[in-house]
Amino acid sequence: AQGLLHGKTVMITGASSGIGAAAARLFAQEEARVVLTARREDRLREVVDEIGAAGGQATAVVADVTRAEDMRAAVRTAFETFGSLDAAFNNAGWTSTGTPMHLMQDEEYDRIMDVNARGVWNAMRAQITVMLEHGGGSIVNTSSVAGVRATGASAPYIAAKHAVIGLSRAAADEYVKQRIRVNAIAVGSTRTELMDQVLSDTPSLLGPFTERAMQQRLADPVEIAQTAAWLCSDRSSFTTGAVIAADGGWT
Ligand code: NDP
Repeated sequence: AQGLLHGKTVMITGASSGIGAAAARLFAQEEARVVLTARREDRLREVVDEIGAAGGQATAVVADVTRAEDMRAAVRTAFETFGSLDAAFNNAGWTSTGTPMHLMQDEEYDRIMDVNARGVWNAMRAQITVMLEHGGGSIVNTSSVAGVRATGASAPYIAAKHAVIGLSRAAADEYVKQRIRVNAIAVGSTRTELMDQVLSDTPSLLGPFTERAMQQRLADPVEIAQTAAWLCSDRSSFTTGAVIAADGGWT
């Protein structure tokens, strides 16, 4: 049988570690051609080499999601290398924790909003511009359980992940006639470098992050990647403007 993403070119942001790197490996196994983007070139190269060694097709673009031009360059690379852009997984994200909002520096708010919300804005606008010329596509944005409720994460992160859902719904509505689907994933607690950093800054979060999931555990990154693969694929053809939970039953 053909892979779930056979014949599709998929761009992934934040593909150098965690959920994004797991998605790059899984999408390639499912026969997508993957365009990996992030800032750390060495880490991107490792994932690209691993995919190549396993017989997959992948390329890397060093890109910062807070720079619109970097996102446009990644989209151009997709066309130059693979001749199309059929789907995108806009997954790059970052947060700090531990500072109460009334004590937080404005720069911390700006940084968190920039990476998580403006990053999705920059990526989507570059992707939509080409998808409009090529008959549509599927865009998947990484939100969080913090995008639908307060979770103990920092206030700017909660605001930014709510914004990701707003931007996803707006784009789904605005471009539905041009056959662009846009969905968000409300990701629950997942074992990644970001989670390691959050738990080392604020160890008291491990208890609630585990216990609030009905499944009483953290996710493996590939479990989130599987949801993203389905949303990128044609199997989710009647799903748009949706927020799909991959959170172990967060209560
Ligand atoms: P990781 O830290 O492992 O991965 C984050 C990725 O984002 C890295 O590839 C990093 O690459 C990239 N990134 C960060 N800042 C930028 C930037 N300015 N430009 C480009 N890329 C950037 O963490 P996760 O895999 O956990 O995070 C993936 C997504 O999942 C994030 O959006 C996060 O908010 C979300 N999420 C995670 C949860 C969890 O429990 N882990 C829970 C809910 C949501 P590089 O540093 O090389 O640029």
